[in-house]
Amino acid sequence: MVKVDVETIYEVDKLLAQTYGDRRWRKHAEPIDELVATVLSQHTNDVNRDKAFKQLKRRFPSWEQVLNAPVRSIAAAIKPAGLSNQKAPRIKAMLQEIAEANGGKLSLDFLADMPVPEAMEWLRKLPGVGPKTAACVLLFSFGKPIFPVDTHIYRISKRLGWLDEKVSEAKANELLDKVVPNEIKYRLHLNMIAHGRKVCKPQNPRCDECALKHLCNYALKRQR
Ligand code: SF4
Repeated sequence: MVKVDVETIYEVDKLLAQTYGDRRWRKHAEPIDELVATVLSQHTNDVNRDKAFKQLKRRFPSWEQVLNAPVRSIAAAIKPAGLSNQKAPRIKAMLQEIAEANGGKLSLDFLADMPVPEAMEWLRKLPGVGPKTAACVLLFSFGKPIFPVDTHIYRISKRLGWLDEKVSEAKANELLDKVVPNEIKYRLHLNMIAHGRKVCKPQNPRCDECALKHLCNYALKRQR
C-alpha cells in the first residue's frame, strides 16, 4: 500500500528540484543500449557497468555481432560487470527475442507507439528483464511517463513513510508509478537518486542537512 498523498509528492519534487535542478527529458541512449546497460548494472555499480558496456561495444561494435557471438566471448567482454556467466546468455537471449519479434531486425523502435502498459508487458517477457529495467528503457529512451524504482528510490520512499516496510522493490515500482504524477516522473526519479547518493545514503543518512526532514518518518522517529 502507498501511504502518501499527491501534494506531498509535489512538495518533495519541488524541494529536490531546488537542490538538484529542474531536469528536462533528454534521450539517454538508444533503447537496446539502455536495455543491455541496465542488465549489466544488476548487482554492480555504475563504474563497473560502464566499463563492461564499453568493453562489449569495443569488442562487438554492433548488436548483430553480439547476437552472433558465442556466449563465452560475450561473457569475457562484460567481465567487469560481474556475474558475466549469467548476464551474457541473458543478453544474447534478449537480442534473439528482439530479432525474432522484428523479422530479424534488432530494433525496439516499435515500442514508441505502444501504450505504456503494453510496452511494459512486452519488455517484461524478455529474459532477465524486471519492472525496473523495463521502466528505465521506456523512460530514458522513449520519454514515456513511467517511474522506475531503483535501490535509492526504494530506500528513500520507505524512510519517508511512503511505502510499507514489507513492500518488495518490484511491487514498489507498480505502486509508486500510480501515485507519482506523469509530468514529474523523470525529474523526481533522477533527483531522488541524486539525493540517495549524496544525503539519504544507505548507512548514516545525513538527516540534519536534508531538505525533506520535516516530511520524513525516519527523521521524525530519530528526534523522539
Ligand atoms: S530526513 Fe534523513 S532519512 Fe529522511 S529523506 Fe532525509 S536523509 Fe533520508
